[in-house]
Amino acid sequence: MMYQVVIVGAGPVGGRLATELASRGISTLMLEEHAEIGRPFQCAGLVNPPAMNMVNLHDTILQSVDGALMHSPSGIMLPVGKDGRVRTHVVCRKRFDQGVVAQAMDAGAHLWLKSKPIDASVTTDGVIVKVEREGEIIDLTCGLLVGADGAHSWTRRHFRMGKPKEMMIGFQADVSGLTGKDNWLEMYTGKDFAPGFFAWVIPTGNNTHRVGMWARPQDLDGRSVEECYESLISHDLWKKRFAGMNEIARYCGPVPCGTIRKPFKDRVMVIGDAAGMAKPTTGGGIGPGFRQIEAIIDKLSVAIIKDKLSSSDLEKICKPFKAFRKEQDRARALRDLLVTIPDDDELDSHFEMFNRPEILDLINSVGDIEHPVPLGMTLLRKVPEFRKLAIKAGFKLIFA
Ligand SMILES: Cc1cc2nc3c(=O)[nH]c(=O)nc-3n(C[C@H](O)[C@H](O)[C@H](O)COP(=O)(O)OP(=O)(O)OC[C@H]3O[C@@H](n4cnc5c(N)ncnc54)[C@H](O)[C@@H]3O)c2cc1C
Repeated sequence: MMYQVVIVGAGPVGGRLATELASRGISTLMLEEHAEIGRPFQCAGLVNPPAMNMVNLHDTILQSVDGALMHSPSGIMLPVGKDGRVRTHVVCRKRFDQGVVAQAMDAGAHLWLKSKPIDASVTTDGVIVKVEREGEIIDLTCGLLVGADGAHSWTRRHFRMGKPKEMMIGFQADVSGLTGKDNWLEMYTGKDFAPGFFAWVIPTGNNTHRVGMWARPQDLDGRSVEECYESLISHDLWKKRFAGMNEIARYCGPVPCGTIRKPFKDRVMVIGDAAGMAKPTTGGGIGPGFRQIEAIIDKLSVAIIKDKLSSSDLEKICKPFKAFRKEQDRARALRDLLVTIPDDDELDSHFEMFNRPEILDLINSVGDIEHPVPLGMTLLRKVPEFRKLAIKAGFKLIFA
C-alpha cells in the first residue's frame, strides 16, 4: 500500500496536519494506536482563540475564560484579565480531538485505529513502514513519515532525533462541588504543592472544574505530582477553598517543552509534542503545534508533491522552527527569572511588585499568554523594582 504521507498519531496536531495535506490533494494516512480518538485524556483543555479559529470547533467549548486570579504563596491575589474579553477557551478534549480528526477525514485522509508502527526504514524512494493493525502486520510505503505521536514519540525515538529540553509532569482531577467565577481560572503558587510552577483551577461549566498542577521532576524533591495535588487541597491557606469538592476522575501525563534541534531526517519529521513544542510558561501544546503546521504547510505540500524530501530539503522547510525554539528559550528564561523560584518569600515579593494598579494595567494591555516575552521585557524596562532583575534577565535572554 502506498501513501504520500503517513502520520503516526491522530491527536490534534496529527489530525490538523492531515486536514491541511488531504485538502491539498495529498494522499494521507493517520495511524492511531488507540481504539478511539481523544482517549486517554491528559489535558486541562485550554485552547487559545487563534488556535480555535483555525479549526472552528466552537461547539466543543465548555467554558470561555476572560482572566486568571493568580495567588502568591502567602495569598496575595492578582487578577489578570478583563470581564468580556475572552483570553482562552476550555474545551472537551475528546470532542475537540475527534472534531479535528473528522475534518481530516472529510478532507480525504484515511484513519487506521488500533494501529501502530513497529518498524520503519528509509530508502532512496520512500519509507517502508511495518504496521501492526489489530494484530495483523501490514507493510506500507510512503514518501514522508511524520511523527505526531506525542511526548514519548515512537518516531522520534526510532529515528534517534534527540529529546525535548524539559519534560514536565502534569497531574489533574476533574471535580464537582467547587464554586467560583465561571469565566475566570485560578492559579496557585507555592513550593508545598507547585514547586517552581503553579497549580490551577479551571472552570468547565455546569459547576465542574479541573484542578491540577505541573512541575519539573528535579523540583519535586522525591515527591510525586499526586502528593503535590493532595498538599494543595489540604493546605492551611486553601483547604477551605477545596472543602466541598468531589472528585470525578484523576489523570497524569508528560508535557515536553523545548523543541528538538533537528526534528527531521531524510523523509521523516516530527511535530507537536513529539518535537517538544509545548510552551514552557503554560504547558500548552495545541496552539504551538497548530502554529508549527501553519508555518510550513505550503512549502511542505510542494515538497511532497515534487518528492523532494531529503533532510536538507526538510531543513529549509522547517526553518521557521528555529524562531519558535528561540521564542521558547526566551520564555523559559523569563519564567525561571520571575516564577520558577524555589524561595516562597522571594516569589511573594514578585507578587507584591506586580500588585499595583499601574502594573496590572500594563500586564492587561501588553500581556499575551501566547507571547510572554514582550510583557516580561516591558516590565523589566518600565518597573523600577524589576530593574535589579534586569541584568540577570539580560544575560538569560541574550544567552537563551
Ligand atoms: C495535565 C496536562 C494538562 C495539559 N493542559 C493543556 C492545555 O490546557 N492546553 C494545551 O494546549 N495543552 C495542554 N497540555 C498539553 C497537550 O495535551 C499536548 O500538548 C497536546 O495534546 C499535543 O498534541 P499532539 O497531537 O502533539 O500529541 P497528543 O495529543 O499526545 O497525540 C498523540 C497521538 O498519537 C497517538 N500515538 C502515540 N504513539 C503512537 C504510536 N506509536 N502509534 C500510533 N499512535 C500513537 C496517541 O494515542 C495520541 O492520540 C496538557 C498536558 C498535560 C499532561
